[in-house]
Amino acid sequence: MKRLKDIRLTKVQLGRLLSRKQLNIYNYILGEHVVCVRCNDAAKEGIVVEEITLNYLNDIMVRGTCKICKGKVARIFEFGEDEEFFKRASDFRNSLL
Ligand SMILES: [Zn+2]
Repeated sequence: MKRLKDIRLTKVQLGRLLSRKQLNIYNYILGEHVVCVRCNDAAKEGIVVEEITLNYLNDIMVRGTCKICKGKVARIFEFGEDEEFFKRASDFRNSLL
């Protein structure tokens, strides 16, 4: 099987891929549950999102900075395991061809 490419997403594109439930999970996690190594804790004031990627597993990878310490943080959302998300992501990839 061919390995899928990593694709950078805009926030709007991400919003179209996520179900309402997934969007809630996404916002909940980014709001105060991303681990910050520098704080040695969760980034309790949330993070500033700098980069959203649809990765080769059709998971969502978010990179950004902790709002408290400005340290780099990253979080993977394993939405690719959700069949419907995987299909939407595949359709999105095809729409780019
Ligand atoms: Zn921090």
